[in-house]
Amino acid sequence: MKKLTYIFPIYNESGNIDLLYKTIIKTIRPIQKKYNFEFIFINDGSKDNSLELLSELADKDERIFIIDFARNFGHQIAVTAGIDHATGDAIIIMDSDMQDPPSVSLELINKWEEGYDVAYAQRKSRKDTIFKKVTADMYYRFLHKVASIDIPRNTGDFRLIDRKIAEEMKKYSEHNRFLRGLISNIGFKQIGVSFDRDERHSGKTGYPLSKMIKFAADGIMGFSSAPLKLISGIGYFMSGISLLSIIYAVCVKLFTPHNVVDGWTFIVISIFFVGGMQLIMLGVLGSYIGRIYTEVQNRPLYAIKNIYNNKNKK
Ligand code: UDP
Ligand code: MG
Repeated sequence: MKKLTYIFPIYNESGNIDLLYKTIIKTIRPIQKKYNFEFIFINDGSKDNSLELLSELADKDERIFIIDFARNFGHQIAVTAGIDHATGDAIIIMDSDMQDPPSVSLELINKWEEGYDVAYAQRKSRKDTIFKKVTADMYYRFLHKVASIDIPRNTGDFRLIDRKIAEEMKKYSEHNRFLRGLISNIGFKQIGVSFDRDERHSGKTGYPLSKMIKFAADGIMGFSSAPLKLISGIGYFMSGISLLSIIYAVCVKLFTPHNVVDGWTFIVISIFFVGGMQLIMLGVLGSYIGRIYTEVQNRPLYAIKNIYNNKNKK
């Protein structure tokens, strides 16, 4: 029998844990006979009584595992720990605040059974603050444009991944993790399932603005060298302008010398020339730093689907 692992990162979710567990149990009832289940809750340094509630549940249900972090390491790290410890053939990653409707996980499982390796849940609509909706929409448009890989828009971490993907993810050791980017980067057969994202059931968001900004930067800097390229871009633009200015300064000197204060031409030319050169050189430095960065990230170079010769096709 195949095994499914559900991963729930928990940060101060005492108001949601009971409802989440009950809803999940109800949701999987129709497929309960078909699969074995494992529920991994990662307590990410909660300051409320989430851990107590979890261990009460774990007393009743032996399919529950609790990973209790020594402090708050953040959502992406919590999910990573879940993936590292999951033993299922497929792993479902969900938020624990009921924003990701458990019923959608059944659709993700169906896609997996159809042969997809990643089924990501894609928001048709979301119930969040206007600020969050607008900034998220702009961010994902921008990321889609600049990222070196195709990160689907309107997706979060709510998704199912096959064991193959989980094994590949273990090879990624980078600290500033942007899991949805890593999963896109790995490849295999991926598909979206659309859903309406609900409101947070209880408690408040664990992603205040400061964490959101850091997370957004992880996405851009992890998968795009656009900010570095911007320096060279500006450098070439400034050099273009300085060339025109140099021509202008020389013309003024040649044709209307009586209008020119002594030394003006030389000073203007040197300012423009040096400014443009400096930015271009910064751009050169930037492109080397970009390379150092990819080397330091030390990502695996490839993910293999299969190795075979024609006699021995797997
Ligand atoms: N979370 C976590 N560690 C954190 C912040 C959040 O494990 O430092 C969990 C949280 O319990 C929830 C999920 O990550 O299950 C998503 O967080 P949240 O709902 O607060 O984010 P939002 O939906 O507001 O973006
Ligand atoms: Mg939430």
